[in-house]
Amino acid sequence: MKNLSFIGAGYVGLCNGVGFTILGYKVTVVDIDEEKVRIINSGLSPIYEEGLEKSLKDVLNSGLFKATTIIQDAIDNSEVTFLCVQTPQRSNGSIDLKYVIKAAKEIGKCLRNKNWHLVVIKSTVVPSTTEEKIIPILEKYSGKSVGEDFGVCNSPEFLSEGDALNNFFNPDRIIIGEYDEKSGNLLEEVYSCFDKKIPRLIVDMKTAEMIKYASNAFIGMKISFANEIGNISKLLGIDGRKVMDGVGLDHRFSRYFNQPGLGFGGPCIKKDILALINEARSRGYDSRILKNIIEINNMQTDILLQLIKIKIRDNKFKTVGILGLSYKENVSDIRGSSSIKIISELNNMNVNILAYDPKVEENMRKLFPKIDYKLSGQEVIDNSDLIIILTKWMEFSELNYTNKSVIDGKGVISKEKCKEYEGICW
Ligand code: NAD
Repeated sequence: MKNLSFIGAGYVGLCNGVGFTILGYKVTVVDIDEEKVRIINSGLSPIYEEGLEKSLKDVLNSGLFKATTIIQDAIDNSEVTFLCVQTPQRSNGSIDLKYVIKAAKEIGKCLRNKNWHLVVIKSTVVPSTTEEKIIPILEKYSGKSVGEDFGVCNSPEFLSEGDALNNFFNPDRIIIGEYDEKSGNLLEEVYSCFDKKIPRLIVDMKTAEMIKYASNAFIGMKISFANEIGNISKLLGIDGRKVMDGVGLDHRFSRYFNQPGLGFGGPCIKKDILALINEARSRGYDSRILKNIIEINNMQTDILLQLIKIKIRDNKFKTVGILGLSYKENVSDIRGSSSIKIISELNNMNVNILAYDPKVEENMRKLFPKIDYKLSGQEVIDNSDLIIILTKWMEFSELNYTNKSVIDGKGVISKEKCKEYEGICW
């Protein structure tokens, strides 16, 4: 078994690091955030992910896993390094590679005195980035040559937040974008710990990079398609959820990402589609499908806001309760969450805002310190004139909404459960 290191201990680096330790590797995860490293080494997970904290404690106790801020130690004590830092979007939508470039420089410096080492890019980067940007940096800062002195692969990450560990252990496919056969063979050996039945695809690096973008664009397209059908269905007095249920029963379409509602949030789908739009544009191609995916998605929050404004105006409501702040259920992540836009708009409407989320509060408090954060969903319901459901947390379906007005952005409750019910695509 090889020893592995992961640069960046966020969702991807931490979940992979813990997962590979459970599968028998010795793992070091590196982060520049000292507080994050301290928290991880104390056995607490900086993110909420089902089962992660328990698994983290187990791997720390096994002595086979640790977090550090010292990248040189991690690389010296491993044969394979996975680069897992963030790749956010710039204000024009294009990919911001500054974290990847900085990390690649650091990895390069650490390779100076190392024997042959494999560097695997797991961060999502636009096609050609590994070949044209990362490899030249690794060569420059290590003073070595790719192929001869070190190997490189691009192996995109497909985990879905909220189900990350399960996704880690049961991936749908393994994609290996290899610089050369030696690099690909070693990465295949690392991945040999996964079930042999999981399909493996070995391609060149830019094909691997494109597979990741095409996958996220396809998810976005399914969701925006469901929303388009849902919006038209509502105008026709039809429940868009039932329509898409019926569509999803066809074996040629999967039932995932098939439900109309508030659209997609989170740190990846939108930023990756925008990055692909930009990359295509820079090569002279104007992608209409990709642009429309984003436009329809943005529109869903606006439709919900319109419903809220009308309800508040017509009923002279004074207190609005928000159920759900994370961008989706089972995560503590608020990146790209529609709750941010909706609360910002409510702040201009002269209403009191109450809010509850099972896992999110601290990050939201930094953004919106004046909101009245409650300890339970029921407390929010009992003290609000209008309740807005923004996240599909299971516990929200079990609360008592009797005599309340509800705007449901996610299809969490049936209309019989409350006095007045309004949905977004139903
Ligand atoms: P994240 O923001 O949660 O974590 C990135 C971590 O890298 C942070 O903790 C940061 O402090 C650390 N970091 C930055 N520069 C560093 C450096 N030079 N050395 C050490 N640590 C450094 O990001 P994430 O959500 O884990 O995403 C990582 C990449 O994987 C992104 O490209 C993302 O698009 C992709 N991805 C994410 C997901 C997801 O669900 N979150 C899924 C698939 C792919």
